[in-house]
Amino acid sequence: MELRAKCTIFSEGCHGHLSKQLINRYDLRKNAQHQTYGIGLKELWEIDPSLHRPGRVEHTIGWPLNYRTYGGSFLYHLAEETPLIAVGFVVGLDYDNPYLSPFKEFQQFKLHPSVRKYFETGKRIAYGARALNEGGFQSIPKLTFPGGCMIGCSSGFLNTPKIKGTHNAMKSGMLAADAIYQAFERNELEHGYEPVEYENLMKNSWVWKEMKAARNVRPSFDTRLGLYGGLAYTGLFYVGFRGMEPWTLKHGPPDSQHLKPSSECQPIEYPKPDNQITFDLLSSVALTNTNHEADQPAHLTLKDDNIPVERNLKIFDGPEQRFCPAGVYEYIKTDSGDDRLQINAQNCIHCKTCDIKDPSQNINWVTPEGAGGPAYNGM
Ligand SMILES: Cc1cc2nc3c(=O)[nH]c(=O)nc-3n(C[C@H](O)[C@H](O)[C@H](O)COP(=O)(O)OP(=O)(O)OC[C@H]3O[C@@H](n4cnc5c(N)ncnc54)[C@H](O)[C@@H]3O)c2cc1C
Ligand code: SF4
Repeated sequence: MELRAKCTIFSEGCHGHLSKQLINRYDLRKNAQHQTYGIGLKELWEIDPSLHRPGRVEHTIGWPLNYRTYGGSFLYHLAEETPLIAVGFVVGLDYDNPYLSPFKEFQQFKLHPSVRKYFETGKRIAYGARALNEGGFQSIPKLTFPGGCMIGCSSGFLNTPKIKGTHNAMKSGMLAADAIYQAFERNELEHGYEPVEYENLMKNSWVWKEMKAARNVRPSFDTRLGLYGGLAYTGLFYVGFRGMEPWTLKHGPPDSQHLKPSSECQPIEYPKPDNQITFDLLSSVALTNTNHEADQPAHLTLKDDNIPVERNLKIFDGPEQRFCPAGVYEYIKTDSGDDRLQINAQNCIHCKTCDIKDPSQNINWVTPEGAGGPAYNGM
């Protein structure tokens, strides 16, 4: 597509397809660390009115994840007349066991005695999943380039410990608009205009302060002490000293480099779906109203068709079958008994996890043509 605007604001959310190309093309990470990610899964439930506490927020960390895997849950009682809760689970995409399934971890979480009461008598009405940025302050790229800038989660403005990013996305959009409008007023808005003032405005805003204060929370969980080290560090420096420590912790390697060979890991036994509290993938995807126009170019592209079987299946036992929250990737046997990766692209809910977590970095998610994808309602 040819963009003819003098200045374009890119706002694709986490791990945008165009944003990732802009970051590479203009080397926008030259002075920043790589981005790190989590996958967030979410459901909307109508619950027994007697259990509804409008406005109540519940967060947990850990279980059912092991202590070396970052993640936890959120459960929000929506402040609406209908007794609705939004419940979800985030798993850091730097996990190392290829047998881990973020979707099944989430399903298992709902069985915990502290929350299962909501689901025993409730009704699930929506499901969705999306990758989110976890890299925080140290992973913010340069925000501007000739002819445009990036805002919101395209540039990684998510407060990781709070799992909140809409306020920062809105503020960054307002400041980008301010910077471009000022250039327009000064008659400086030419083709290829780079709104450098936007980055200065961001650095002087509360977004920058908030992101800086939270910068060490996520990497503190990367230590060998995992959950326990991260909790101790966060309690002391983030809660106690409000992120004022003078150092900045670095992230480990990119998420795609963390998986261990399956031969070094134990398969994880997850409870079977009971269709009241826990569900399977396909009935979940059915709630997303996902649709893609037929006869369009593939939006899940492989750089090398041999890699899935030759590398991902052989070494990691096909982890894309488990990290995809929509059952898009399936290894099947051909008539001749060979393994083959089948990609059910029609089911893709655009979470971008495969593009991030594939250990071979062989999957390239591109924006589909038309307006295809999930059609979430109330999410
Ligand atoms: C499970 C989960 C729970 C969360 N909970 C909260 C919360 O409680 N509070 C909070 O503040 N934040 C929360 N967040 C984070 C919040 O969703 C994001 O920070 C916020 O949505 C970022 O806004 P954005 O406008 O940058 O991107 P998005 O909201 O992701 O919007 C980007 C839009 O651009 C579209 N798009 C992408 N690429 C293209 C393209 N090439 N062409 C055309 N359109 C495109 C996408 O379809 C999408 O509609 C949560 C995130 C997740 C995953
Ligand atoms: S195919 Fe990729 S982007 Fe689509 S739902 Fe699965 S992991 Fe997410």
